[in-house]
Amino acid sequence: MTITPTDIGHLRRCVDLARAALDAGDEPFGSTLVAEDGTELFADRNRVSGGDATQHPEFAIARWAATNLSPAQRASSTVYTSGEHCPMCSAAHAWVGLGRIVYATSGAQLGTWLDEWGAAPAPVTALSIQQVAPGVEVDGPADEFTDTMRGLHHARVSRDAG
Ligand code: ZN
Repeated sequence: MTITPTDIGHLRRCVDLARAALDAGDEPFGSTLVAEDGTELFADRNRVSGGDATQHPEFAIARWAATNLSPAQRASSTVYTSGEHCPMCSAAHAWVGLGRIVYATSGAQLGTWLDEWGAAPAPVTALSIQQVAPGVEVDGPADEFTDTMRGLHHARVSRDAG
């Protein structure tokens, strides 16, 4: 599939959640779970500042979906996210049988930025969603969000370095 104007609207919401996470002292990532009819079912943002580095929104979505949706509902839903799933979240997404993923910026882009800024790399190997979960349909990045997300991540790195 290609990224549609409807997808862009959902991604914009994820970028807003990422900005809210940054403003709250967390890392700038936000994600939503959208049903086949376009209804947003669940949304969350990164919440790692409390000390639990697994508090990623995509992981929260997988757990919420496993509890609240049938397997068919999970498979027909779409997960939108400001940044491509990490390997932990890709695995959780696949294990609970969720559907398509659309991301604004890729893990590879983030890795390049962190390297450019001399920031600490992630402690987990930067595998793409397709490498971890080859059966999942994935679209991204959406270039209109690159500058905004780069700015949010740079603000996070600058804050943590200070
Ligand atoms: Zn993750």
